[in-house]
Amino acid sequence: MSTRDPEAIVIGSGPNGLVAACILARNGYRVLLLEANPRRPGGALGSEIATRPGFVHDVGAAFFPFGKTSPAFKHLDLVGNGLKWCHAELESCHPAPDGSVAAISRDDDVTASHFGSPEDGAAWRNLARWHRGAERHILGFLLGPFPTLGPLFKLGLFNLLKLTRILASSGRGLSSRLFQSEAARRVLPGLALHVDVGPDDVFGAGLGYMLGLTAVTGGYPVPRGGAQAITDTLVRILEAHGGKLRLGAQVEQVIVKGGRAAAVRLVGGEEIRASHMVLANTSAPSLYLDLLKDDQVSSRVIKRMRSFPHGWGTFKLDWALSDPVPWSEPLAHKSAVVHAGDSLTDLSRFTKVVRGGEIPENPYLVIGQQSLADPTRAPEGQHTLWAYSRVPPTVDGTWESQRERFADSVDERIEGLAPGFKGRIIARRAVAPPDLQAMDANLVGGDLGGGSNAWHRQFIWRPVFPYFRYRTPVAGLYLCSSYAHPGAGVHGMCGFNAAHIAMKDSK
Ligand SMILES: Cc1cc2nc3c(=O)[nH]c(=O)nc-3n(C[C@H](O)[C@H](O)[C@H](O)COP(=O)(O)OP(=O)(O)OC[C@H]3O[C@@H](n4cnc5c(N)ncnc54)[C@H](O)[C@@H]3O)c2cc1C
Repeated sequence: MSTRDPEAIVIGSGPNGLVAACILARNGYRVLLLEANPRRPGGALGSEIATRPGFVHDVGAAFFPFGKTSPAFKHLDLVGNGLKWCHAELESCHPAPDGSVAAISRDDDVTASHFGSPEDGAAWRNLARWHRGAERHILGFLLGPFPTLGPLFKLGLFNLLKLTRILASSGRGLSSRLFQSEAARRVLPGLALHVDVGPDDVFGAGLGYMLGLTAVTGGYPVPRGGAQAITDTLVRILEAHGGKLRLGAQVEQVIVKGGRAAAVRLVGGEEIRASHMVLANTSAPSLYLDLLKDDQVSSRVIKRMRSFPHGWGTFKLDWALSDPVPWSEPLAHKSAVVHAGDSLTDLSRFTKVVRGGEIPENPYLVIGQQSLADPTRAPEGQHTLWAYSRVPPTVDGTWESQRERFADSVDERIEGLAPGFKGRIIARRAVAPPDLQAMDANLVGGDLGGGSNAWHRQFIWRPVFPYFRYRTPVAGLYLCSSYAHPGAGVHGMCGFNAAHIAMKDSK
């Protein structure tokens, strides 16, 4: 082993791989970060000029509820290292064609005056007040390396019972218990559909709750200049601590010697040794089925990985617009994110259709207006728009043949909420599930959640029991992607936790 060999190799430079690499480098390890993409690091966290010159589009993640609250990002001090967060006036708006609306602001009084009805506004204010007091311990419980009993004890009995009641509900159950108006009731279940959790799913309330209430504390900020700015900041931190990033380096095998991860082999045959550890920011099936040999993994794990439960596909769009979206609902003009989903019934219909493998008509949408908060994203006076819907990963025929037709149906849904929208489109780019996977191998079939986010795919089951604490059957090899706990979203905590466990083992 040469003294110039890296001590730690991280495979993949998504936010989790980058955070893991930064933590290791800051702790004195010689780190090499290998990224398959030859053009840019970041995985689903990046930006590109994709429609017309001057319009900056985020390739995947765009709004960052954990940007300011994630312990990993706080520890690495992204802002102190040059990142600038921008906020729109409101965080999330949930309009419907019947004129009803609910909107979330970081100011509880503002939310209370726009949350379906005065009673529902008061109910939201109470919930938000409670959440602010308990959030530190809730995040400690949900984001730390499971089991995280310390933060649970710190919550206290009353708060613990309240949290348990929330997590044990379905999205529909929780929002019907809390709110009376349809506008307020569609908010939390609508947020849960960012992943593959429908309004009627058992124990399905937790995700919508967390996304809704982190909009109150961290908000849905965007980084100035594009999502790529977060990646670039992390790369700067890595390099400042001596770590190295290599693009266009796809790992095809983890080489195991004496039961320990000893090196990796790149496509093309080059072998690179790692004296202490290898961390994989890959999908769980890719790590267990592609990068390791069958005799290094138990037949039970191989079987589980062959039928791994991925989340739904994602269909994503970017537009260059001549003017802002002409929403009928005035609050939508000020909101970072707008959700299209008219009612609990509409959200249930959508869930059923996608689960049934059909392309949804009148699709549910998460719509992002980054350029409202950050004018650097578009030429002066013009705007970008970003949206995604959830779809089956595969369709009859191919996505190639359905891509533009489905994109037209997205345009129609936005037009229904904003008459005149289509007349403002300068250019549009539609990205179907296979396109997302071609950009980033972890987005299998367009799954943006690192596998299904159903309750029985979390905690000790993520990605497979008993390997829920980032370790694998091979000594010195760790899974650090969103396929590990705590899963989807840009918080870096999978990488943060995995790096700490790897360092502990290595000592
Ligand atoms: C359309 C879309 C919208 C989203 N919106 C949001 C949002 O608004 N907010 C939010 O918080 N989250 C959002 N997400 C989810 C978020 O992007 C992911 O949860 C997050 O990026 C996962 O990070 P990761 O580091 O685990 O993996 P990824 O970001 O997927 O990165 C994995 C990296 O590993 C590389 N890699 C894989 N295998 C190999 C190999 N064998 N060799 C070398 N390199 C390899 C890949 O090329 C990739 O660069 C969105 C995702 C998508 C797709």
